[in-house]
Amino acid sequence: MSVWTDENVALLRKLWSEGHSARDIAACIPGATRNSIIGKAYRLGLPDRSPLTRVAPRPKPETAARVSAPRPPRFSAVAHAALVTRLAPLRFADGAVATVLTIRDGMCKFPIGDPKAGDFAYCGRDACRGSYCDDHARVSYE
Ligand SMILES: [Zn+2]
Repeated sequence: MSVWTDENVALLRKLWSEGHSARDIAACIPGATRNSIIGKAYRLGLPDRSPLTRVAPRPKPETAARVSAPRPPRFSAVAHAALVTRLAPLRFADGAVATVLTIRDGMCKFPIGDPKAGDFAYCGRDACRGSYCDDHARVSYE
């Protein structure tokens, strides 16, 4: 069975255009490997990106307007960590947060708050990289 469903191809195009590495993209697409990501991107005609000479992808004409908007500043690792520690847990429609009882597979399991206090919760965002969402993965793995 091919991992390249329309959905995964769309995800690949999106993550690739955002400049994520093939390794990171592979982590977000079940069944894909770094090599299969690179091969698929090549077959799709996505802009070539060597990890050693990573350059911003050239905007395609139809997306030029969106891409030419000012890029958000790149946070330093420390600034990013400070940002993420302030990230509030995701709230469900009913206002509740993800707890030991409600956390599910596919949700970010980054702990927020003091387990001994009453306000402990899990992040609860879509887990993209392992058990964590993209922001928490960056803090946890770097
Ligand atoms: Zn998270």
